[in-house]
Amino acid sequence: TRFNDFNLSTPILDSIEQLGYTTPTEVQQSVIPVVLSGKDVIVKSRTGSGKTASFAIPLCELVEWEENKPQVLVLTPTRELALQVKEDIMNIGRYKRIKATAVFGKQPFRGQVTELKQKTHVVVGTPGRVRDHIERGTLSLEKVRYVVLDEADEMLNMGFLDQVDAILSELPKERMTLLFSATFPEDIEQLSNRYMDAPKRIET
Ligand code: AMP
Repeated sequence: TRFNDFNLSTPILDSIEQLGYTTPTEVQQSVIPVVLSGKDVIVKSRTGSGKTASFAIPLCELVEWEENKPQVLVLTPTRELALQVKEDIMNIGRYKRIKATAVFGKQPFRGQVTELKQKTHVVVGTPGRVRDHIERGTLSLEKVRYVVLDEADEMLNMGFLDQVDAILSELPKERMTLLFSATFPEDIEQLSNRYMDAPKRIET
């Protein structure tokens, strides 16, 4: 399989080429077509497998550039991962001019609020701060059509279950949910049962 075999537009293929990715990794070969087809997906994966691009590539493809409010919400356990995912999305979305914003705790609200007021296609953040922005009315969920739970087991290990649960319950019902995790304890299974629609399971 090559990136050209997926139904990707020229701007996305150009960005992938510029990043020097010649061949999709195993997880990318499995995940990209499923996400492009609009199905929920549960992926067992580790860092280093290319999992970030496996959701960043199809979601950058699916995002509507003209829409000003956030369409993609990515939840991560840490600020470091949030920043990494934001950067990866902006790299893959470069030639489509995709804008991504990262929000996380222990940093003033003001700069984040200013960024969230501007056009952004993707918001990446830690659950506590994302929830704070929702409650303050500084993050609109109205147009969110894709949500990614990245390193879901780590998020729950860090005590974010209630926050993740609350955020998912407030999202539009018409949406896709993508869950990435290295392990699948009972609380993750419950979360996926409650919030995902006939997810396809992928293990590479
Ligand atoms: P991740 O598992 O998402 O943390 O990605 C691990 C590393 O692999 C990152 O540095 C990516 O930039 C890189 N990477 C992702 N996909 C590919 C690919 N198809 N070819 C080469 N490198 C890749």
